[in-house]
This record gives sequence, structure tokens and C-alpha cells, in this order.
Amino acid sequence: TKKRNLAILGATGSIGTQTLAVVDEHPDDWNVTLLTANNNTNLLIKQAKKYSPNTVIIANEQNYTVVKDALKKTSIQVQAGQQAIVDAIAQETIDIVVAAMVGYSGLASTLKAIEHGKSVALANKETLVVAGDLITQKLKEVPEAKILPVDSEHSAIFQCLSGEKLSSIDKIWLTASGGPFLGKTKDFLSTVTPKQALKHPNWDMGAKITIDSATLMNKGFEAIEAKWLFDLKPQQIDVIVHAQSIIHSLVQFNDGSIKAQCGLPDMKLPIQYALYYPRRKKNDWERFDFADYATLNFETPDKETFTNLSLAYEAMGKEGNMPCILNAANEVVVQAFLDERIGFLEMSELIAKAMQKLTYKAHPTYQDYIETDMETREYVCSLIR
Ligand code: NDP
Ligand code: MG
Repeated sequence: TKKRNLAILGATGSIGTQTLAVVDEHPDDWNVTLLTANNNTNLLIKQAKKYSPNTVIIANEQNYTVVKDALKKTSIQVQAGQQAIVDAIAQETIDIVVAAMVGYSGLASTLKAIEHGKSVALANKETLVVAGDLITQKLKEVPEAKILPVDSEHSAIFQCLSGEKLSSIDKIWLTASGGPFLGKTKDFLSTVTPKQALKHPNWDMGAKITIDSATLMNKGFEAIEAKWLFDLKPQQIDVIVHAQSIIHSLVQFNDGSIKAQCGLPDMKLPIQYALYYPRRKKNDWERFDFADYATLNFETPDKETFTNLSLAYEAMGKEGNMPCILNAANEVVVQAFLDERIGFLEMSELIAKAMQKLTYKAHPTYQDYIETDMETREYVCSLIR
């Protein structure tokens, strides 16, 4: 079979490196043609030498010379800047784009990839949170473009939906690990440090999503992501805490039947499923063993303590630019928490303030999203200062 050309945006991150680990297991299937990073020049250079892509792009332009010098004896093109990433996506030599940048920064390139009819293996959920309506609109205009979910919950639902109709869905349950502070009180949370919040029990992920998991914003984002991916109403999307992360999510159909997708928590599986869809690819990774799990546990999420989940559902219900406000405010407060400029509980308080303060737009254009994102960041920064 012919090798497929792969672009990885955010190659140096948790999802990016695990994508390359999948490629390493099946090297005959893939040509890596484009790699991008932001600040991790060492790893990007190492990856470039190993995979010889046509192009590497470093988003932060200050890092350009370091990467350029290191690769000057190769035929690899080195570019810098956010716009270079967006432009490179249009290349005809790319079959599938892994969108694994963090946050709002991934929106422009994902939109571009869809415009050009690419398959997008989407990890960057914030893109759908911010502008799910624009993305779904673009997908309708360009039928050859596809989004293949990488997020483990959405991959689970996508796998459960194989051979089914979206219109037969009654509801879905997104499973949540609950993060490192499952069962904790507000009192306890008022004193937790970034170091404590960065210790996730089941998954080893980038810093931003690890904090989002600790606050349950990640699950709120995933509800919005599911709404767009599977054309659901907010009432059809439920969250259940399942601390062991064995069941990755469930779908209930209109005849009452429930399907679940299960497996050990390892992002390589949803990544591989997205890369090979609609085929399954044999691998010899560690398998689930019932002997290790005598019981699987479930509980309802504590929305009183983890108010982000309610804020996300509120934003999802209001639609328009409200999820964009939610996301921009969240990006600012997560960074401020990581920098120890605000406490854990202040994160939700500031997001709630932003949702009240910023101008609501029911039918935003792309330009409106750019403005909402900027204005929200400015407002939340001013509250922190
Ligand atoms: P990481 O922080 O580990 O990696 C992020 C990648 O994006 C890095 O390559 C980073 O470059 C690059 N990057 C960061 N900021 C920018 C920017 N402003 N412009 C361009 N590139 C940038 O994140 P994860 O891999 O954990 O997460 C990536 C996405 O996938 C997120 O949207 C997350 O929510 C989602 N996701 C992640 C999961 C996981 O298990 N990790 C699970 C499900 C979803 P550099 O390191 O060089 O600075
Ligand atoms: Mg997830």
C-alpha cells in the first residue's frame, strides 16, 4: 500500500510525540511531511533529523535561527510564525493533519485544513469549543474534509457509532476520571498548588489540559466538543465520573441499548484509530485484564465544588460567542494559576465574571471570534492585575 503523508501540528507535545510513537510502530505506512512546534527547539530538531519532513515550522519566531542553523545541512525547509503553519496546511502533499496544538492557537490551521479537504485527526478540542459552528459549516461545504476525533472520549463514541446513525442516538455519557482532586472540598481546593494539580492520576498530558482536568473544565469542553462532532443537544450529553478510565465513554441508542468502548488508558489507541480510520490496525500493546479490575466505579460529578462544569454547560446552551469567551477566559486563568498569580478557586470565579461582562453575539463571524478572544483575554488580564 501507498504511504500516506502526515502533518503533525504540535509535534513536540504529549499528543504530537505519541503520534510519532504510533508512526514508529508502522513506519511503512507513513511519510511525515510537516512538523510544527512552539518553543521546544531541541526536540523539534531531533524529530526533523529523524523523520526528514519537507518542512518544519517553529511558531515562535524568536526560535527561528536556532532551528534553521541546526538543519542547514539538510534539505528540510525551515519556517517560522503562526501564519506559516496555516499556509503550509494547504500543501497538496498532506493527506492527514494531526491537530495537536494547545488552545485557540489551533483554530486557524484547523479551519484551513478543512477548507483544503484534508482529514483532520483532532486533539485540539478548544478549536471546536471556540468555533464549532464555523467548523461544522465548513465541513458541510467541503464534503471530502473529515474530522476524526483523537480525544479518548470522542474516539470512544465515534467507535460506538460505527454502523449506526447519528439520529438513533438517545444520549451519550462522557466518562471523567475526576482528576487529582476528586472528592475534595472547596476548603481543600482553596490552598492547592500547581504542582499538586499537575499530578494527574491516569494520564500524562500537557500542562494546560492537566489543569483543565483538575478543574473539570476539560469535561465541560468535551461536552461542547461532542455537541458539534455528533450533532447533539446539550440535554443529550451527560458526564459520569469513572476514576479508573477504563470505559472511555458510552452511547445509549433510541431502543435503550447502550454501547461502551473500553481499554487501558493510553492515547496511542485513539490516535491510531483516527490515523487508520475506517480500518483497525493490529498492534501488540498491553491489553486490559479483568484480574486487575475487580470492580469498575461510577459516581455523579460534584458540580457545586467544580463549578467549571456548570459554566461550560451554560456556555454551550447560550451558543454564539459564549463558548469562545469561556475558552479565552480559561486560557488566561490557567496560565495565571500555573504562574501562581491566582488560586485554584479563583479560576472559575474569573471565568464567570468574563461570561457576564463580555458582549454576547448570537451569530458570530470568524472576525467576531478573533475579537471576542482578544477582548476576553484583555478583560481577564485586567482583573488579575
Ligand atoms: P502539550 O502542551 O503537551 O503540547 C502542545 C504542542 O503545541 C507542543 O508541540 C507545543 O510546542 C505546541 N504549541 C503550544 N502553544 C502553541 C502556539 N501558541 N502556537 C503553536 N504551537 C503551540 O499539549 P497536549 O499534547 O497535551 O495537548 C494538545 C491538544 O490536545 C490540546 O488541545 C489538548 O486539549 C488535546 N488533548 C490532549 C490529550 C493528551 O493526552 N495530552 C488528550 C485529549 C486531548 P512546544 O512544546 O514546542 O512549545
Ligand atoms: Mg479527553
